[in-house]
Amino acid sequence: MGKLNVTVLRYLSKEDFRVLTAIEMGMKNHELVPGPLAAAIANLKTGGVHKLLKELCKHKLLSYERGKKYDGYRLTNTGYDYLALKSLTLRGSVSSFGNQIGIGKESNIYVVADEEGTPICLKLHRLGRTCFRNVKSKRDYHGRRHKASWLYLSRISATREFAYMSALYDRGFPVPKPIDFNRHCVLMELVNGWPMTQVHEVLDAPQVYDDLMNLIVRLGNSGVIHGDFNEFNLMLTDAGKPILIDFPQMMSTSHENAEFFFERDVTCVREMFRRKFGYESEDYPKFSDLVREDDLDAEVHCTGYGFTKEMEQDLLQEYGMVEQNENEDEEADEAQEPPELVPAAADAEIDECRRQVENEVFYSENKRTQKSDEAVRRYI
Ligand code: ADP
Ligand code: MG
Repeated sequence: MGKLNVTVLRYLSKEDFRVLTAIEMGMKNHELVPGPLAAAIANLKTGGVHKLLKELCKHKLLSYERGKKYDGYRLTNTGYDYLALKSLTLRGSVSSFGNQIGIGKESNIYVVADEEGTPICLKLHRLGRTCFRNVKSKRDYHGRRHKASWLYLSRISATREFAYMSALYDRGFPVPKPIDFNRHCVLMELVNGWPMTQVHEVLDAPQVYDDLMNLIVRLGNSGVIHGDFNEFNLMLTDAGKPILIDFPQMMSTSHENAEFFFERDVTCVREMFRRKFGYESEDYPKFSDLVREDDLDAEVHCTGYGFTKEMEQDLLQEYGMVEQNENEDEEADEAQEPPELVPAAADAEIDECRRQVENEVFYSENKRTQKSDEAVRRYI
């Protein structure tokens, strides 16, 4: 585990930023973005897009690839990291970068610092590493759909995490304080505690057990289930108080699979206490005991983060929490068509992408306001 490579943040120009953003926007609908489409979206006054594209490839922020039906550019992980970190830096949420402190199942975790020099936690979501072109063949094994590109999934995952963390924090749940997010990156308070995986004894096991079960019930009464309530996602402070992390897979207690995941979370805690601390109790919560006291689940969907039911479905599929949809082969085919052949929308698409690029560029060159951030958020 090393440092985040951020040297590239320093030497890229405004034009580089614009071209990179153009590829990002083009990739919302296409596996690869051909040079002419990139040029149309970037809409550079001075021209010279191809030289910039080549440079960005050299720095590995983009890659040029041969597709089955056409060739074009793709944003790399590094390129996507760059765009997000650049935005977070420009709006003053991050001012320096430190070491990696964790690798989760679906993320990399770093310590960074804000403008006051306070250490904070940066989580880079990395989902759906499968690329578009392998989707059809892989669907047989994993049943993935074309939209499940890493770009799309990582972004909804981070957005969803930030949305749930904010709603939980506002209600006084023991979670890290959410600070900011952009694309696939979430900034939050650095928890001062031990991951439960590293905790082998506790002073008062029955107390910690009760705290955890009460936490599960309190979440349930607020309308949500964590869905991955295990020792990898729980931290313990020196005072022995649990802090819950890792929220992108949370679901509503009204979801059809809610009872299954509620019981799985409860079982996780019982198993963990039996195994780690030799503690067993007949006292544990049941789904039927829940009493709805709040609508945290609904609030998360209504607060302007811009994610739809379909996005939620795609993400929960990726986390293996719901069944795959059928009938998606046609969409997968469409994503692999050369952009010009995709139904009549070509011009409208370029306009829309251009507008999004202008937005991003504008906000990267001007001090962001909350309102402008909301506008950008709507484009996820
Ligand atoms: P994933 O979704 O990939 O599982 P997590 O959010 O669970 O990612 O984070 C992975 C690991 O990083 C955690 O197990 C924990 O050790 C560490 N970590 C995550 N968030 C924080 C935080 N806010 N403060 C301190 N450590 C953290
Ligand atoms: Mg985790």
